[in-house]
Amino acid sequence: MSTIWQDISQTVKEIYRGQSIIPLHEPTFDTLELEYATDCIQSGWVSSVGKYVDQFEQKLADYVGVRRAVAVVNGTAALHISLKIAGVQANDEVIMPALTFVATANALSYLQAVPHFVDVSKDTLGIDPQKLAEHIREIGERKDGCLVNKQTGRVIRALLPMHTFGHPVELDALLDVCQQYNLVMVEDAAESLGSYYKGKHTGGFGLVGALSFNGNKIITTGGGGAIVTDDVQLADYAKHITTTAKMPHRWEYQHDEVAFNYRMPNINAALGCAQIEKLPEFLSSKRALTEKYRSLFQKVEGVDLFLEQPHNSSNYWLQTLLLDEQLYDRDKVLEQLHAEGIMARPIWTPLDELVPYADCPKADLSVTHQLKRRIINIPSTPLKGDSNV
Ligand SMILES: *Cc1c(COP(=O)(O)O)cnc(C)c1O
Repeated sequence: MSTIWQDISQTVKEIYRGQSIIPLHEPTFDTLELEYATDCIQSGWVSSVGKYVDQFEQKLADYVGVRRAVAVVNGTAALHISLKIAGVQANDEVIMPALTFVATANALSYLQAVPHFVDVSKDTLGIDPQKLAEHIREIGERKDGCLVNKQTGRVIRALLPMHTFGHPVELDALLDVCQQYNLVMVEDAAESLGSYYKGKHTGGFGLVGALSFNGNKIITTGGGGAIVTDDVQLADYAKHITTTAKMPHRWEYQHDEVAFNYRMPNINAALGCAQIEKLPEFLSSKRALTEKYRSLFQKVEGVDLFLEQPHNSSNYWLQTLLLDEQLYDRDKVLEQLHAEGIMARPIWTPLDELVPYADCPKADLSVTHQLKRRIINIPSTPLKGDSNV
């Protein structure tokens, strides 16, 4: 009888033939990135301004379907500024899933605000709207038009959902909760460029959304991020405070507030312009990969490939397996896969278990902690020549 890791290993090796080490996710570059980067270098405009930044921002806004995009140095900076312009202040609480990458909470901490962790749903791997509503009924009270956490006395200012591995959360239900309790929605859409909820692109539902173009994301600029919003004034303000709050003038240095040097260099934006042109190709290639994994894993007992909800279109950024806890130990499976050269990964340690966030307010997190023991990500790099399936 074969064991689970042998089944997974065989399946992955069948798909990524001829590679002795199979990474989790690699960037896909070709001549287009070379062409734009070369042009950028030859122009001399590699740093803080240049035509590629403007072009990339326009392409992003068009793609996401929002009025404006502001390109910045990374996704964490995008989240930091998104939360700031959404009005999050020191000592506010912001509700977020415990099952997310640490950057979601770090960005909030830069504002001296406090994460408030809630549970996720098995269907989306993102915030569970029903459990969220129950939790707020239990711990919240309304005061002067704000929602206040009765247990801490702090204002709960915003809701920060995250679309795990590209799978959209239940946005309609979450927007209802926001409306009911006067919460601002800020979307951590770092993983969901190319993902749609009921036909509309993620990141465009909240007041603001944050994207990431880190090396492992669906498109990459080396490092990078963007703030997306329909609010032109907020976008202008985001641009201003990510570019040191410098007042427009031909030579003088006037800055009207303490601000940030978070702008994306032109050379990175040149890569972004090439990558976003190829995004539709990446998306269909990811979908083809999902289809291959799905048919192969159908035969394997105790392993479920995580699939999109019928009303969503996921970018399938990272392929996700749910292991049957009764049958398999996650860490043993990972150890064996690594010994085979397959760079599989567990899902993140829930943030309430991390030292800096251990004392934060939280709801019941039973689903989060159960999923933590069951989820692994397997190699997900788009396959070449597979985009027309
Ligand atoms: C990647 C990521 C970020 C941060 O992006 P960086 O560009 O790495 O700073 C934030 N949140 C989530 C959920 C991410 O996956």
